[in-house]
Amino acid sequence: MKIDVQDLLIGKSVDKDVCEDFSLAKIDFNNNEYTFEGPIHIKGTLSKIEDGVVFKGHILAKVKTVCSRCLDEIVKDLNIEFEEEFRKSQDELGYKIIDNFIDITKLIEDNILLNVPLKTLCSESCKGLCPVCGTNLNKSTCSCDTQIIDPRLEKLKNFFNRD
Ligand SMILES: [Zn+2]
Ligand SMILES: [Zn+2]
Repeated sequence: MKIDVQDLLIGKSVDKDVCEDFSLAKIDFNNNEYTFEGPIHIKGTLSKIEDGVVFKGHILAKVKTVCSRCLDEIVKDLNIEFEEEFRKSQDELGYKIIDNFIDITKLIEDNILLNVPLKTLCSESCKGLCPVCGTNLNKSTCSCDTQIIDPRLEKLKNFFNRD
């Protein structure tokens, strides 16, 4: 999504409010695929700085991914605060101003990726999938012969693992 910042650059206005809904199909990252439920909402203020503009605000999004253990879908609410600069000079790293426009797509993607967990679990106690038949063990049980630890031994194991 592109925003015209010419008024700020020429000093015609001091700041500019941004309040937009933005849709993003998906982000692939670290072998995970993130999609979104509904639009991504972005709200903030652009202000002039030397050689560019600074964009301060927050991103609200509902990100969908899958549990790393049981592959069930998870929806996570994100509320991300950000402050990023866009520069006119093209020789520096970071976000650029091109023909008096800034493109905030990359900013949104970067900030979302910084805030999504790398390993997502539907819950800390997720039992995962049966390695033999693939049954989701949170939802049902199966009769496969996997090494099920006797609950009494489990207690003993925890005892030895205690510091
Ligand atoms: Zn799970
Ligand atoms: Zn099974």
